[in-house]
Amino acid sequence: MAVQSTELILDELKKLLGEERATSNDTVRDLHGRDESYHAVRPADIVVFPETTDEVSAIVKTAAKHKVPIVPFGLGSSLEGHVIPYNGGITIDFSLMNKILEIREDDFLVRVQPGVTRTQLNKELKKRGLFFSVDPGADATLGGMAATNASGTTTVKYGVMRDQVRDLEVVLADGSVIHTGSLAAKSASGLHLNGLFVGSEGTLGCFTELTLRVYGIPEQIAAARASFPTIDDAVTAVVSIQQAGVPISRVELVDEPSMQQVNRHAGTDYPVKPTLFLEFSGNVAGLRQDIEFTKEIVSDLGCDNLEFEMDQEGMNRLWEARHHLAYSYIHSNPGRKMMVTDVCVPISELAGAVHHARETVDRMGLIGGITGHVGDGNFHIILMIDMNNPEEVKKSEQLNEAIVSYALDRNGTCTGEHGVGVGKLKYQAREHGAALAVMETIKRALDPDHLMNPGKLFSPSKEDA
Ligand SMILES: Cc1cc2nc3c(=O)[nH]c(=O)nc-3n(C[C@H](O)[C@H](O)[C@H](O)COP(=O)(O)OP(=O)(O)OC[C@H]3O[C@@H](n4cnc5c(N)ncnc54)[C@H](O)[C@@H]3O)c2cc1C
Repeated sequence: MAVQSTELILDELKKLLGEERATSNDTVRDLHGRDESYHAVRPADIVVFPETTDEVSAIVKTAAKHKVPIVPFGLGSSLEGHVIPYNGGITIDFSLMNKILEIREDDFLVRVQPGVTRTQLNKELKKRGLFFSVDPGADATLGGMAATNASGTTTVKYGVMRDQVRDLEVVLADGSVIHTGSLAAKSASGLHLNGLFVGSEGTLGCFTELTLRVYGIPEQIAAARASFPTIDDAVTAVVSIQQAGVPISRVELVDEPSMQQVNRHAGTDYPVKPTLFLEFSGNVAGLRQDIEFTKEIVSDLGCDNLEFEMDQEGMNRLWEARHHLAYSYIHSNPGRKMMVTDVCVPISELAGAVHHARETVDRMGLIGGITGHVGDGNFHIILMIDMNNPEEVKKSEQLNEAIVSYALDRNGTCTGEHGVGVGKLKYQAREHGAALAVMETIKRALDPDHLMNPGKLFSPSKEDA
């Protein structure tokens, strides 16, 4: 944005929000010009911190009047450049819209502002014997999680973010406010706007309130760790457990290099072998049966080390070790940037896909560990790249392309959960074919000036380029 128009718009926004909540301070701009990935940094022009839906609407109207972009910002934990304001404009940071507005225990619903984080919500829900299921590891905001259709370790049982959203309050590109759903558990009325807006990455509007499903905390939970001779055995075990109808609530694969990383970071001495981290939940009698059945299945597949954690402290230790894996790679590789692949394939193709991924990483001589929410067919290669080494950057991009190609050839997707942002734009035409034009038509109808998070999810318009 030209300096003159930045000053003019900042002035208007300060009148709206006060001196403190509209800023072009360099540190704040810089913090809002990056995510957790390898994508190039670009400081924000102006950052605003609204507290109400009316304020968000007024900010969006200001942007529309001056024809400058809006970039919604939750916590900035996304991995494909989603929040980086490559076209400048106004970044809306939702951190002050962080109130839990209503807990409807009898309906198993909560109404929250978008800046509430998932751990903040779970802390409050726990007091009432409830929990919110989606767990992407990072302590992301619920607005950001809805905008990326986040999922994670618990998806195998409870589903993705899209399955949890009952209603969204959305400020559209012209500043008007709509609701996309209702409190009803089901509806045959109208098009499914919840489904449309969830996963829209800030490109169709700003979420200012979310109504979400919550669940009762199960009577009993047990966590386990099972190591296998090969990755193929571990993946086959997951498929067999699911085929046997065991209702596991989490099942995560961690390969050998990543187990080394876990041990180094968490101070554990788990066997350095392809490993499954599992969780079972339910009533005591059912759980006992599930565990016995699982023991039989994994031992048939060569599992020589199955360890259970039944007490809360042990379970926390196990899941923290898994959840901190990406950060442990970051801490162990100072100066390098993280690139995470994120394909999802039909479960019958999973063993082949993971095998292909490991072979390709090794052949290319890159530093990378495989981990994944294998119960859903979704897995990641965590690569640590030296961005000052053009050959390594090129190889990493080639690897990402090879992994995506393999998944698309098998009718999978280029991103199971991280989203498109700028990193997965180039695969959209191949993945969606003629359906991409339908998506672009919707985008044009809702945001004709292409101001909502331009250049993300949809290719830049000619004016942006
Ligand atoms: C170590 C690590 C592990 C991760 N593991 C997972 C994982 O297992 N599963 C997973 O799904 N993701 C994972 N992620 C990615 C990330 O945590 C998710 O994408 C998360 O949902 C982003 O939430 P956020 O609050 O940080 O949003 P941001 O990064 O701030 O924003 C993400 C997107 O949402 C939009 N947005 C934010 N708030 C709003 C709003 N109120 N209205 C409209 N649009 C909005 C932004 O414009 C942007 O496009 C991981 C990230 C890290 C760093």
